Amino acid sequence: MSPLNLKKLSELPWESRLVDRFPGDPEKRNFTRQVQNITYSEVSPTAVGSPKLIGWSEALASYLGILCPTSDDLLSLEVLSGNRILPTMRPYAARYGGHQFGHWAGQLGDGRAITLGESLCGASGRFEFQLKGAGPTPYSRRGDGRAVLRSSLREFLCSEAMHFLGVPTTRALSLVLTGNSVMRDLFYDGHPKPEPGAIVCRVSPSFLRFGHFEILAAQGEVSLLKRLAQFLIEDHYPQIQVNDPDAFGKLLDEIARSTAEMVAHWMRVGFVHGVMNTDNMSVLGLTIDYGPYGWLESYDPQWTPNTTDAERRRYRYGNQPDIALWNFMRLCESFFPLIQDEARLHRSIQVYKETFEKSHAQMTAQKLGLSEVKSSENEKIADDLFQLLQSSEIDYTIFFRSLCDWKVDSQPADRSPDDQSLVDGDRSEEFLRLVSAAFYSPETLGADLRGQWASWSNRYTHQIRRDGILDAERSGRMKAANPKYVLRNYLAQNAITAADQGDFSVMERLLRVLKTPYDDLPHEEDLAARRPEWARHVPGCSALSCSS
Ligand code: AMP
Ligand code: MG
Repeated sequence: MSPLNLKKLSELPWESRLVDRFPGDPEKRNFTRQVQNITYSEVSPTAVGSPKLIGWSEALASYLGILCPTSDDLLSLEVLSGNRILPTMRPYAARYGGHQFGHWAGQLGDGRAITLGESLCGASGRFEFQLKGAGPTPYSRRGDGRAVLRSSLREFLCSEAMHFLGVPTTRALSLVLTGNSVMRDLFYDGHPKPEPGAIVCRVSPSFLRFGHFEILAAQGEVSLLKRLAQFLIEDHYPQIQVNDPDAFGKLLDEIARSTAEMVAHWMRVGFVHGVMNTDNMSVLGLTIDYGPYGWLESYDPQWTPNTTDAERRRYRYGNQPDIALWNFMRLCESFFPLIQDEARLHRSIQVYKETFEKSHAQMTAQKLGLSEVKSSENEKIADDLFQLLQSSEIDYTIFFRSLCDWKVDSQPADRSPDDQSLVDGDRSEEFLRLVSAAFYSPETLGADLRGQWASWSNRYTHQIRRDGILDAERSGRMKAANPKYVLRNYLAQNAITAADQGDFSVMERLLRVLKTPYDDLPHEEDLAARRPEWARHVPGCSALSCSS
């Protein structure tokens, strides 16, 4: 958008269609309560002491046509900190429920998120703007409605990083330090401490979650359930006719597809959400609610960043596709009153399974630079690689990025492709050298593993040579699927440590570099390096609690 068309946030047109079209809470006072037959409660943010804008996503702002609030635009800053509600805004907290860690948890709702409203942002479309950490709402239960700087900074950075990685996600426009402290028990050891409070302004076409539908089904509020499903269709799935007798089945198919694609992307980039409760699942298939998430360092399907889940590891990296399916099945159950046809629901479940399998296979092929993984040999190459990657500590991101530079053009052309002898054997050492930067402890690579790598790299070389794609072209394609830069856990922690001291340059540098995660940036090599040893067991770098 041209700078001439940019508007101040405070000048945007605002509406709240949930408020206009749906029944809201008749109780206007702000206290924790159970509600019924409504979809939201009107509530305003609670003012903060001395707000300071410390993070701004220029990329999102220019996409939305919004100017960065500077000293001549204090009004917009007040809006972003929850200190001011514009006359056209009707802020609210939404009602939703959810399954947490496999169990129905009843009413949850926006306990610390408040939607300011929706705005039509030129050609980019309509977006909902939501403040996270803006104070208590009727859904706060035992919480204070606030968020700390460390978790807000992580949500701010990661939302934007995921977008630039091509992973469907909600976005983050701003990060504001509130000037108030918040008490948090970081280690859940009975020693709460004051921490700086912060507010993220999140932006999404919609923040509707699986849980919005689950609570209505659980409470038997079927007519509201139907209206909300119709609202979702009209707003986001114009290809579905609302009066189509199969409209709700088609809606579930779309949610199945977008959820499966989102999870396939998570697997591709090595992202672990950490708290895949159904209240944290968007009905648009967007990554939502960045909490104790993490990024794979060494490839380990068992890994979870979430200390609260350390024992059962329900939300471990390798379990994410199955958990998204489990969550989607809960959504299907909620739609039963509208569809009343188990076979139809099973078809939507099948859509999830097929979409995930197809997307995952395509992405795996892209990561490996193979034309497809559907052939049995290629499938075996992929499976064997993932087995081998687990055999020693190997950095997932660095391994695949290094693989993009494997050269096969120079192979003797007159050799039969089936000739696996000498030359390939010799090249396996070269292969190991190429990927060596990915190994956390190369000394553990004994003769047996070396042999396995030799055999794998020869089969792989043979296979990509058979595809016949020139190195330069294959490398380009692979690099578009294998990021060089991801928000490594320790990098986010470094940004937090600096921000705690009032230095936001580390965060700003990450925000800049993570905007082009697939490029080789010569001056930013340090951000693409393996996790340093010091970070192995440091809280925030290795594991996170839910405290936020
Ligand atoms: P989460 O695990 O962050 O997705 O949160 C689960 C539920 O707890 C949601 O309903 C949140 O709104 C609520 N919640 C989390 N933290 C707080 C807080 N500090 N104050 C109020 N509600 C919260
Ligand atoms: Mg949540």
